[in-house]
Amino acid sequence: MKIKILVIEDNKQNLYLASFILEKHGYMVLQARDGRTGIRLARQEKPALILLDIQLPEMDGYAVAQELKRYPALNNIPIVAVTSYAMPGDREKALASGCIGYLEKPINPDTFVSDVEKHLPIQPPGKEAVS
Ligand code: MN
Repeated sequence: MKIKILVIEDNKQNLYLASFILEKHGYMVLQARDGRTGIRLARQEKPALILLDIQLPEMDGYAVAQELKRYPALNNIPIVAVTSYAMPGDREKALASGCIGYLEKPINPDTFVSDVEKHLPIQPPGKEAVS
């Protein structure tokens, strides 16, 4: 069974690129274009990891992360902020909201998957440990 990754991102091109790269590496990608949809999908699907854009319409990524963390069933799902904000304090703000990591946009296609996998709590496909 494929590992599910939820991508919450309102920008079509960024969403497409992230999904394309992750699917190419064998992941099942769930897509949400806004925070509310993302939270609903997270609760329904229990993804292994959530990639969260910070600049989102209505509810920003910080608010989304805080709400996700209110559900005990979602508490163990790592949330990685993905943002083009480069203001001092953004990383700290993301971590304070419940994110465990922070990736900067634009996505670098060469390092994106390995950056994501650093935060993945389970072994990525095809990379099972040899016993
Ligand atoms: Mn955005």
